Amino acid sequence: MEKDKPWTPPKEEGQRPVRRKPINRQQLLLRPVEVEKLVEEDHPVRAIWELVGRLNLEPFYAEIEAIEGVAGRPVWDPQLLICLWLYTYKDGVSSAREIGRLCEYHPAYQWLTGLEVVNYHTLADFRIRHKEALDELFIEVLGVLSHEGLITLQRVMHDGTKVKACASDKSFRRKKTLQDHLRLAREQVQQMGDPGSEELSQRVAKARQRALREKQQRLEEALKELEQIEASHPKASKNKEVRASTTDPEARVMLQAKGAYGPSYNVQISTDAQAKIIVGVGVTQAPTDAAALEPAVERIEANLGERPKQAVVDAGFTNQATMEAMAQKQVDLIGALPERNGVAPKRLEQLGVSPDFYPQAFEYDASTDRYRCPAGKALPYETQERQGASLRRRYRARASECRGCAFQAQCCPGTKRGRSLIRSEQTPEMAAFQAKMETPQAQAIYKQRAEVAEFPNAWIKDKIGLRQFRLRGLVKVTLEALWACLTYNICQWIRLCWKPQRLPQA
Ligand code: SF4
Repeated sequence: MEKDKPWTPPKEEGQRPVRRKPINRQQLLLRPVEVEKLVEEDHPVRAIWELVGRLNLEPFYAEIEAIEGVAGRPVWDPQLLICLWLYTYKDGVSSAREIGRLCEYHPAYQWLTGLEVVNYHTLADFRIRHKEALDELFIEVLGVLSHEGLITLQRVMHDGTKVKACASDKSFRRKKTLQDHLRLAREQVQQMGDPGSEELSQRVAKARQRALREKQQRLEEALKELEQIEASHPKASKNKEVRASTTDPEARVMLQAKGAYGPSYNVQISTDAQAKIIVGVGVTQAPTDAAALEPAVERIEANLGERPKQAVVDAGFTNQATMEAMAQKQVDLIGALPERNGVAPKRLEQLGVSPDFYPQAFEYDASTDRYRCPAGKALPYETQERQGASLRRRYRARASECRGCAFQAQCCPGTKRGRSLIRSEQTPEMAAFQAKMETPQAQAIYKQRAEVAEFPNAWIKDKIGLRQFRLRGLVKVTLEALWACLTYNICQWIRLCWKPQRLPQA
């Protein structure tokens, strides 16, 4: 076969060639476009437009300066920008540039914009500029869902999920390195000349100056965050282990679901059990959920005007302080019992401890206040620490005994010290909670937790694509989480309530 000639179907001698449709890429076409018919009657983009059109968008309009009868360009309607962001999150896209591209060819975006293209700067600014107005919008949507009977607040399942920050592991630096980099950045800023006198074009010179100033600002913020971390972790700061990110100083290193550590934020989501509607969302820098339930209940009250009757949580939330706070707020707390013997099985699995050497395999002797391990060695009391309102007592085997033990690889792999166990002292509130959780009714309620609480988490990560934040800083990532949760709630409204309108026939 000749390489530079196009392939043609083979034909037998005397057989006529196959007749194929020609493709003409040189032609020019003018086609009429009926914008209203670009999407079907039951297309979700129509539902989003319809629902947002019913809501009070006054807070979004309040900041607009362009007024009829006065010189200046008109602005994009906030209803359109809200719908563009909601529709784009629904499709798992979270980039303003990508929306700009989609406006050029995607029928749903063309229908929304009436074939116009919205500039990505406008979209990106809009996403982060209206914090209070977006909070109001979230509450407005909750009002609609409540009116439809999808929210009752009889039972709310609350859970936290870690979402990766827009920062890499390598961006974390110790204090000394941050100080050195900051000094260098300040010197570079001081040496910057007049952009007009540079050999480069003015635009490039100004961009360089801006980048340097932003770098200096980020380093200053990282040092401030580092001081905060040092204040809350005095032990770690003594060992000079404390580090902060130079790209997102407010991100924190947290344990992810798959057992790896990485820069993250902790997204707290409260879900009403009636129809799995998100009734509250918040973002924290705390690596654990221990103190997250009380603010979550306050958020629900601020959003809906009342507290939930019952809150269902996992073992990460059930501690003395949370129990007291829920009792004071008259919220019935249902949850997994905290591990009395310290570390949770999931963590032990990550550490490589064999299930035969989990804490239940160790026998506690109250008369001598010590544990006995499966090899018959004693683990005497070592120290105690207070965590919230509960007291945690640590017991440890002798390092020399563990080193010589045939079970060391299964019992305490990778540690040079002897195996340790933690025992939490039980307070009267804990004992009452344990008694409640042993009843079949409480057990049955708790069994529903995973299905309800983890449903929106999975939806937001898998369908909306919020596995990693695009924005940086606590305020901006909170906005991103709010957009995602708002989109999730609107998807539930479409699924459960929306009835498409019939289009008028031409
Ligand atoms: S490794 Fe230590 S604690 Fe574990 S079984 Fe052996 S002696 Fe006991």
